Amino acid sequence: MGRGPQRRKKFHRGDTHLKKRWRTKRRKRDLDQIDGDLKEENTAKLLHQEVDEDKPGGGQHYCLHCARYFIDTDALQRHFRTKVHKRRLKALEIEPYSIEESERAGGIGTFIPPKKRKMKTQPVDDGTFHPEQEDADMK
Ligand SMILES: [Zn+2]
Repeated sequence: MGRGPQRRKKFHRGDTHLKKRWRTKRRKRDLDQIDGDLKEENTAKLLHQEVDEDKPGGGQHYCLHCARYFIDTDALQRHFRTKVHKRRLKALEIEPYSIEESERAGGIGTFIPPKKRKMKTQPVDDGTFHPEQEDADMK
């Protein structure tokens, strides 16, 4: 018997070009940053931020997973159907920390597969009027 199985995580071939793209000069948010954004306390802040005239659409139409602003709900919803967005959801399905851990663990012979989780496109506030809420706020 040797020193135990030398198992390495095999990445899908198509993954590498995605990784490279994330390291472009136009530094956007890293995947692990976005991972933090996706925590519940942060999503609320990001999706209901104050109007910022410097951001497209005043910063009111934000895609959490891609860390991008869109000019209106329509543009945002169109973006949700694009390849870029879907690819991003897939990439985010694997938790960044568990990839690191499983690579480290791979060296000593134990392989922990990265945790997979389900990524869903955020719900869109389509501006539907809720009279009950409006009432509650007035009091
Ligand atoms: Zn997106």
